[in-house]
Amino acid sequence: MAFNIYTISANIIHMVNFTCPKCGAPLPVKPGTQLSVCSYCGTPSYIDRREAIFFYILPFSITEDASRAIFKRWTAGPACPKDMEATAEITAIKKEYFPVFRFRRTVDGKEKIAARPARGTLLPGMHSIEIPPGDMVIFDSSTKAGGAEVLHPDIAIDSYVGDLEGTPIDQSLVYFPIYELKYRYGGTEYAMVIDGSSGRISVTNSPKRSSVSYVAVMALAFVLGFIGTLLGFIITPIFFVLVIAGIFAGKILAHKVVKKPDGGSS
Ligand SMILES: [Zn+2]
Repeated sequence: MAFNIYTISANIIHMVNFTCPKCGAPLPVKPGTQLSVCSYCGTPSYIDRREAIFFYILPFSITEDASRAIFKRWTAGPACPKDMEATAEITAIKKEYFPVFRFRRTVDGKEKIAARPARGTLLPGMHSIEIPPGDMVIFDSSTKAGGAEVLHPDIAIDSYVGDLEGTPIDQSLVYFPIYELKYRYGGTEYAMVIDGSSGRISVTNSPKRSSVSYVAVMALAFVLGFIGTLLGFIITPIFFVLVIAGIFAGKILAHKVVKKPDGGSS
């Protein structure tokens, strides 16, 4: 027997039956509570404004050593300055589960998934997370975090619902695996996130090879400008000398040319 409550969305009243996603037992959902724990198997579900949101976890498929290797490969890549592979250093690495709301919705007759961060963050990539389908497992009291810190949500799910397209099918909270890296290059510390499931790298600000060529181009422009100015100073007097010399030469020549017929020797 499921626990019955009602929700109102778009002015339509829906009856919602909440059951435990793990064992199917009715969930003791009370309006206004955030968390409901199954009294049979201990599986927690996140409750917000009378909507049940089931907890999932996406396990790490990338080890910390592999994440270091991903970083190393990236520093050797075309996006990074040439000396970065040799000189960039990882200063901190944190293994974390970051909470993400996963909205499954029907948009124009098709199922679409939208993911939004469930926790305020400045970490790169957290607003464009892609949760691979099928890999999630139910998060319950027996779930092992495996040395990862579990970060908990601090954003209410309904702050997103109004901006989503389509109609809801279900929604869940997914603990998403990440490696939060800090590294130092050229005296500056940078942050990076490596997706612990796919190995995808997210950066907001990183040393750029193009910034090096930008400096080179600016230096070249400065040198050329300097040479141009110098040449201007040198050429302008020469130009005046030539003009004056030309005028004199013309005068002398004209004098001779004009004088010649005067001589009447031919
Ligand atoms: Zn249960």
